[in-house]
Amino acid sequence: MSVQLSLVAHDGRKDALVAWAKRHEATLAQCAIFATGTTGARLAEALPSLNITRLKSGPLGGDQQIGAMIATGALDGMVFFIDPMAPMPHDVDVKALTRLATVYDIPMALSESTANLLVDGLASGRIRRA
Ligand code: PGA
Repeated sequence: MSVQLSLVAHDGRKDALVAWAKRHEATLAQCAIFATGTTGARLAEALPSLNITRLKSGPLGGDQQIGAMIATGALDGMVFFIDPMAPMPHDVDVKALTRLATVYDIPMALSESTANLLVDGLASGRIRRA
């Protein structure tokens, strides 16, 4: 079974996430990717080789859909490039996801360096579905 990974970025970090995903395309191409609406559209346009399921846009419930995937054991890891400089009406979504990722011990990367570690873990098989 392939690794199921969610990729999300706030608007101010979407360019950075697309650039990061390009650098890790070979590994990400082996994953089933779940992305919030706008992030997923950006990734699909830049990286047609990826297997991306687009959820609702984050502020419209996409982040909660990812939370539900964590709670049902459907996600192996989460990369969420948050924008630490911009207040957002859906700030609380990050807190909710951080809490659920901790409850279910799902690796969650909020920045580029931790996302690199997460992808290295995926590539080496240290994060793998049973
Ligand atoms: P988006 O959602 O990919 O639909 O922009 C991301 C977010 O802000 O949670």
